[in-house]
Amino acid sequence: MVSRWRPAEACVLTFHGLRADESLVPDMLDQEQHIPASVFEEVCEHLAKHYQVVHAREVAAAQAGGPKLPSRAVAITFDDGYESNYALAFPVLKRLGLPATIFLTTGYLDRSVLPWFVRLEMALSRTSQSILQVEDFTASLSTASERREAYLALCGRLKSRTQAEADDLLAAIEDALQVHLQPGDNLPAPLRPMTWDMAREMHASGLITLGGHTHTHPILGRCTPERSEHEIRTCHARIRDEIGTPPSLFAYPNGGPGDFDQDTQAMLASTGFSGSFTMHAGFIHPHHEVLALPRYGNPSEPWEVEAMASGLMERLRQFRRGLGLRWKKEVAA
Ligand SMILES: [Zn+2]
Repeated sequence: MVSRWRPAEACVLTFHGLRADESLVPDMLDQEQHIPASVFEEVCEHLAKHYQVVHAREVAAAQAGGPKLPSRAVAITFDDGYESNYALAFPVLKRLGLPATIFLTTGYLDRSVLPWFVRLEMALSRTSQSILQVEDFTASLSTASERREAYLALCGRLKSRTQAEADDLLAAIEDALQVHLQPGDNLPAPLRPMTWDMAREMHASGLITLGGHTHTHPILGRCTPERSEHEIRTCHARIRDEIGTPPSLFAYPNGGPGDFDQDTQAMLASTGFSGSFTMHAGFIHPHHEVLALPRYGNPSEPWEVEAMASGLMERLRQFRRGLGLRWKKEVAA
């Protein structure tokens, strides 16, 4: 299905990792971020046939006054830097000749840190405790669905804290569950980070652009200015040193309202980033700032991608705004 009305210039899609097949990975609680490789392949074939898949850097350049994008422009992006981007997505992108951008959490690739959500997910899925009690939060962990419910509730709780408070709470959760995952520990396949060799090979293909996503994946809007600056500068330097080319694009962790501000944007610009992406769902319009470009997050079905890329989702959003209604899922983190 190809839409006849397309009200805007570019649609940027966000993926995370991929799963090898449809079956669920036993010790994972958040499978939705990792779509089956067959679904991703179907999505890519659809995009290759009906859309102009462009580099995200072309989108940022057009927004900054550079060459205009073709009509029906769509960019594919991935966040975090999973091994499955290389093992499962890259072969599909190569076969179809589609460009994509991968935003790297550089400490994750270095194997020096694990992002907080990986630590939380593994602590809750691997613990032998049947009850978690931390602060005023109590949850039964007897079944997989109770563990998933606790995971989602604690994600919300951690995201609402300053980064220092969230770090303390996560450590308290790991203590209570008696699981202290280390960067070198075995992880379920979808949660493994890529190696720098994989990143270099993808970069050398010319199809894949590598961008920044901080060094340890905190929410920048909840960090002190010193920590934010350290995260942005370290991330930039690690990619430059490992790849040989400094990154020009960035994606904000979480990327919702309040997850970055004007100071964060100024830090990005002074570090050398010329384009940055949020998780504000929507098309990119001329009024969007080049350091706060919207993206659609986590499509899990081909029809969802078509609704995003065709403009159907955008039309619905504008229609709801016209009625004064909020779009329930404005931000997909
Ligand atoms: Zn991320």
